[in-house]
Amino acid sequence: SEKEAAIAAAAAPPPADAPTIFDKIINKEIPANIVYEDDKRPFSALPDLQRVLAFRDINPQAPTHILIIPKVRDGLTGLSKAEERHIDILGRLLYTANVIAKQEGLDDGFRIVINDGPNGCQSVYHIHVHLLGGRQMNWPPG
Ligand code: 5GP
Repeated sequence: SEKEAAIAAAAAPPPADAPTIFDKIINKEIPANIVYEDDKRPFSALPDLQRVLAFRDINPQAPTHILIIPKVRDGLTGLSKAEERHIDILGRLLYTANVIAKQEGLDDGFRIVINDGPNGCQSVYHIHVHLLGGRQMNWPPG
């Protein structure tokens, strides 16, 4: 099944420095439906390590399903690799999720998910926040 394939794919984390499909999206080498991007404006004070990109998930699990990622991975393959230097980007990922939730009109609520490692069913090793909304979510998650 699709779920079993996802679990199998998540079972073997790649080396920390292995590129992911998200690099190609960041570099605009493959298309993505981008909904938000911190630009490198000439006078922007935002450091490169704090810039984020958000795009629609290719396999949406809800009417709104958006991934928010750092534009520079900086070792942050997943939340379990977070170090103190990542505190600012981690904050910005969540802050931006809320900005986008408002942009998407998710006024009745939404769900934020960060899958980590094999047990978390993570499949792409470049940290990402899932923003899901537009329908009633269930608890506990699968
Ligand atoms: P994870 O399972 O690692 O938490 O989430 C990875 C997500 O990335 C999945 O929901 C998957 O559908 C999405 N994804 C994988 N490859 C692509 C892609 O090439 N483009 C887009 N837009 N999403 C992708």
